[in-house]
Amino acid sequence: MKVLCVDHIGIAVKDLEESLKFYTEVLGLEVTGKEVVEEQKVKVAFLPCGDSELELLESTTSDGPIARFIEKNGEGIQHIALRVDNIEEALAELKEKGVRLIDEKPRYGAGGASIAFAHPKATKGVLLELSQRK
Ligand code: ZN
Repeated sequence: MKVLCVDHIGIAVKDLEESLKFYTEVLGLEVTGKEVVEEQKVKVAFLPCGDSELELLESTTSDGPIARFIEKNGEGIQHIALRVDNIEEALAELKEKGVRLIDEKPRYGAGGASIAFAHPKATKGVLLELSQRK
């Protein structure tokens, strides 16, 4: 498997529009896309920073993973995504190495990427997302 770069950092927020003000008005970043991912119960916005992006996530329901994260930890960094060249290969390799995975198969991620999560128990406490861009 080949890790290419940090694809994005996922930040859980209570109110996406309100949170974007800081990132756009204060930091001067630009929002290049917004999307609702029904399967994940999130509304996301992407803000590129060079080769990486910030991904702001707001829960669309009170019981979604982001809502539960905020309930437990408050707002903040929720996951880190690494870009890989081939996600199927990467997952097969991690599985072979005995790494605990949340997703055994890639699924749809915002922006049309293929994504899969490894379990925080296997990554020293980081919810790690693997992402392959089209
Ligand atoms: Zn992500």
